[in-house]
Amino acid sequence: MDNKRLYTPSTIQEILNRHGFTMTKALGQNFLIDGNTVRGIVQGSGVTKEDRVLEIGPGIGTLTEELALEAKSVLAVEKDQRLKPILEETLADYDNVEILFGDALKLDLKKEWEDRFGQDPVHIVANLPYYVTTPILGALFDLDLPLKSLTVMVQKEVAERMCGQEGTKDYGALSLFIRYHSDPEIIRQVPNSVFIPRPKVDSAVVHMLVKDSDPGIPKEKFFRIVKAAFSKRRKTILNALSSYGFSLTKAEIREILEKSNIDSIRRGETLSLTEFLVLAINFPHEF
Ligand code: SAM
Repeated sequence: MDNKRLYTPSTIQEILNRHGFTMTKALGQNFLIDGNTVRGIVQGSGVTKEDRVLEIGPGIGTLTEELALEAKSVLAVEKDQRLKPILEETLADYDNVEILFGDALKLDLKKEWEDRFGQDPVHIVANLPYYVTTPILGALFDLDLPLKSLTVMVQKEVAERMCGQEGTKDYGALSLFIRYHSDPEIIRQVPNSVFIPRPKVDSAVVHMLVKDSDPGIPKEKFFRIVKAAFSKRRKTILNALSSYGFSLTKAEIREILEKSNIDSIRRGETLSLTEFLVLAINFPHEF
């Protein structure tokens, strides 16, 4: 642990000034300046020397460095090429880190990972750029790699929706998407004072342990039904599903709900993941 450089606001500012780097809001560049938060994220991720980590958005390498110390290796994907000279400097001491420059939403991350590490399990740890949180989460769960866990810092409201329980205001399509794939938990609340520049919103760290097997219902079918159920939150599940434009009559949908043991006057937001899965099983292939 001796070679560890603890980042402080002044060392980070000094690095940024020396390289003449200015943060770009459009890239969600809010950099961590608090060692406790950085360590908390890595400890909360549970990664060990056995684990390989994929990081999205290393920035100037603050979280990357902590990961390099605690994990077997880190592959970090950064969109902003201007960070290259900074990352070369801040991560110079670590031979278990590789930075891949490119857009995490455009690169073939499955190929990049498999070319390097074959079928080694993937642990994702990231302070995500907030403007693309949900597309990035969607892409990561769709990677078709042996994904084991994700530990991500996101906007607090998004964290609450990701972990939302049925019957609460936070529950919706995002909660079901996350729970379809994993067991999520908010492991840390993070005030905006630990970033430069300070974002307007507070943040939270969500740890997701990926389920061993997915529920076995075609994802697309499942999420079409979820989307329809939440399209009209104030309506009953029967009315929401029958006014969505599926090629099924109201009577047919009522029958599917009955078969699924779901009272047709309930609202979509009261249905659990299991109930949505049963509903999806009972929907026909084409609808
Ligand atoms: N990990 C650093 C930290 O915690 O201080 C920086 C986190 S900052 C919130 C998000 C980072 O993601 C920035 O470095 C930004 O340039 C990068 N980024 C933004 N969009 C990206 C994308 N589509 N693909 C990869 N990196 C991206």
